[in-house]
Amino acid sequence: MKRVAVAFDVDHTLAIDNKLERVAFLRLLARVVDEGGAPLGTLADETVHVDELLARQRAGACSIDEAVRAFVSERGAPADETYVRLYRAMALEMVEQFVVPLPYAPQTIEALRERGCLTGVLTNGWNPLQERKARRAGFPGPVLASADLGVQKPDGRAFEALAAVLGVPAESVWYVGDDPRIDVAGSRAAGMHAVWLDAEGTPYPAGLEPPEYVAGSLPEILAFLPETAAT
Ligand SMILES: [Mg+2]
Repeated sequence: MKRVAVAFDVDHTLAIDNKLERVAFLRLLARVVDEGGAPLGTLADETVHVDELLARQRAGACSIDEAVRAFVSERGAPADETYVRLYRAMALEMVEQFVVPLPYAPQTIEALRERGCLTGVLTNGWNPLQERKARRAGFPGPVLASADLGVQKPDGRAFEALAAVLGVPAESVWYVGDDPRIDVAGSRAAGMHAVWLDAEGTPYPAGLEPPEYVAGSLPEILAFLPETAAT
C-alpha cells in the first residue's frame, strides 16, 4: 500500500514566532552599543534594517552567520565569531518564550501519525532554530531547513529533498503551508498536493492558480487525505 506523507512549513503554519529573530537582532544591537558600537539610526530605523536583512537571509542571499557579521560590522563592532555565537544562542533560548504553536498543531500531528502518515517539515530558515520551533509545536520528525539544503522554497530542489527524506514520490506528499507563492505554488510545481493553510484570513493573490485544498485550521487537513492514509 502506498504511504501517504504530510509535510509542513513552520512559520505561520505550525507556529507563530512573534518576530523572534527581529528581537534577537535588536538585543544584539544593545550588546554592540554596550561594547562601543553605534546604531545607524533610531530604533524604528534599526527595526526596518533588521527586517530587510532577515528578508535577504530568508531569500537565500546570505546565511544567518553572514547576516550577523554584516550587522555588527556596519555598527562598528568586530565581525568575529563571538557575535555569531551570541546571536544563535539568544535566538534558540528565545524559542520557548516567543514561539506559540497554532491551535491543535500537536493534536493534528499526533492524529496523522496515528493514521500511519509519514510526516516531515520543510522550512526556509536555519537549524537548529527551525527545528526547535517545530518541536515547540509538537512535531517530532525530520526538519529540513533551507540553510542546510542550500536552496529555498519555492525551488523544486527543496521539495525534492523533502520527498527523498520521506522516502515517497512527490505525488504521495500533501504539503501544508501558509504562503501562496512559496508553499502552495512551490509544492504543486514539484508534483505534490498543495494545501493552503488560511488560518489568518488573508486573501489569496490574484494571478495565482487557486489552491487544490484550503484549510482554515490544521485539523481540517485530516479530511483531505485519502483513505489509504489509514493503512
Ligand atoms: Mg510560513
